[in-house]
Amino acid sequence: MTTTIGHYINGQHHASSGTARSDVFNPATGDVTSQVSLATAADCELAIATATAASTGWAATTPLNRSRVLFKFKALLEKHADELAAMITREHGKVFSDAMGELTRGIEVVEFACGIPHLQKGEHSSDVGRGVDSYSLMQPLGVVAGITPFNFPAMVPMWMFPVAIACGNSFVLKPSERDPSVAIRIAELLTEAGLPDGVFTVLNGDKFAVDTLIQHPDISAVSFVGSTPIAQYIYEQAAKYGKRAQALGGAKNHMVVMPDADIDGTVNALMGAAYGSAGERCMAISVAVAVGDEAADALIAKLTPKVKALRVGNGLGNDVEMEMGPLVTKTHLDKVTGYVDQGVAEGATLVVDGRGVETTDGSNGFFIGGCLFDNVKPGMRLYQEEIFGPVLAVVRVDTLEDAIALINSHEYANGTAIFTRDGGAARQYANRIHVGMVGINVPIPVPMAFHSFGGWKRSIFGPLNMHGQDGVRFYTRMKTVTARWPENLQAEFTMPTMK
Ligand code: NAD
Repeated sequence: MTTTIGHYINGQHHASSGTARSDVFNPATGDVTSQVSLATAADCELAIATATAASTGWAATTPLNRSRVLFKFKALLEKHADELAAMITREHGKVFSDAMGELTRGIEVVEFACGIPHLQKGEHSSDVGRGVDSYSLMQPLGVVAGITPFNFPAMVPMWMFPVAIACGNSFVLKPSERDPSVAIRIAELLTEAGLPDGVFTVLNGDKFAVDTLIQHPDISAVSFVGSTPIAQYIYEQAAKYGKRAQALGGAKNHMVVMPDADIDGTVNALMGAAYGSAGERCMAISVAVAVGDEAADALIAKLTPKVKALRVGNGLGNDVEMEMGPLVTKTHLDKVTGYVDQGVAEGATLVVDGRGVETTDGSNGFFIGGCLFDNVKPGMRLYQEEIFGPVLAVVRVDTLEDAIALINSHEYANGTAIFTRDGGAARQYANRIHVGMVGINVPIPVPMAFHSFGGWKRSIFGPLNMHGQDGVRFYTRMKTVTARWPENLQAEFTMPTMK
């Protein structure tokens, strides 16, 4: 008997009104551990109706009191961190320490959102005209929806809802069907922290739930993170139904390795960035662009033994801590394996082959070991497409100029890094590269919560990034009030100008 994961509506668990379910696996064992309900029209309607009913009272709650709920929520997240991280590992597969890291990055957004009384102050100008003042209000939108991917089941929802809720909105989260448990536990903790019923809802489901949310007239805005084709679809649908959207998509992140880089440090940075979380990160480095054959040869020589020695296994409950867990599903494992097969067929040199890996601890789930390719060419599918697995491609170029031209011609532009000791080269790279997030000797340059996260090009649709000031702007709408308290108002027939 597997358990069924339902929804969380109006401050309580809610069993689905239908029978459609999707299997949830423990990817380290390959076993089905539970089933998640897929929302019906009635579930969606109830979720949106209760969120709408809660939104007026929550919007009228003072920012200070909204912030106090978030302070309590942060304390609860910290108290239950081990439990939450274990939940992530059991359904996603990433190793426990990595799951703790994910949670920490999410908690940082809660900390940012606790500052909402300051962040939502708006602007004020005295005397924009004689006796006239002007001020702006940043008012909540009402009910907003978030649709999130499998690879960060806690952190990505936390990029969204702490800011949305802090701004006075109700939030309906549609998590990934692959790892839905942690979202439900987060909802329980929000209730425990004192969040009024209906302000945070978890609606589990698939495309039907997503489409219903986007089309519903009571949903004002949609935040999405996932693959590029779906991000584009969400953005187009949101535009069609007249609501604002931010839709973050896929990635192919390059790290440029200059000939003067500290090669040992660079290799260590690459190991974590390419193979951490089995490459299932939108900021994973999947391409190393070596400038000059000397740098490329040194990279390959030093990476090879390390990739072969990766400890691969169950991310929970080992005596020895693993460095890499399994992929999320068998379907995804087959897809990643297919890319490795294709890379070989296309003529790239497979230096380390992780297919059919024997795990360090004998685990037998959806595993692939680290894969390393040399001599990858820009025309290959291996180079062009997002693989989302532990596969690192080394591309050789002659100059920094070539590296910039190569990276600027890729369709994805989420993150990138340059490793060098040359400040001038790093500065030139940061200024000229057409990518949203840039690291200088930092392999995974994920901006902190008080900055904003987002790529360029086909890695994002919409003008506003996640969290930071952009998050506050996304979840509020500006109203500008121009006021005077006249003593003797005269009729004016010309266009009003300030005198
Ligand atoms: P996905 O696009 O398959 O799913 C994301 C969400 O969309 C899920 O909630 C899913 O239920 C829903 N969905 C899937 N198909 C849909 C459809 N046809 N119509 C409507 N909704 C649909 O993505 P995933 O496999 O869960 O996550 C991996 C992807 O997410 C990768 O491409 C990765 O790069 C990307 N990602 C991007 C960022 C970023 O910040 N840019 C962050 C994390 C993940």
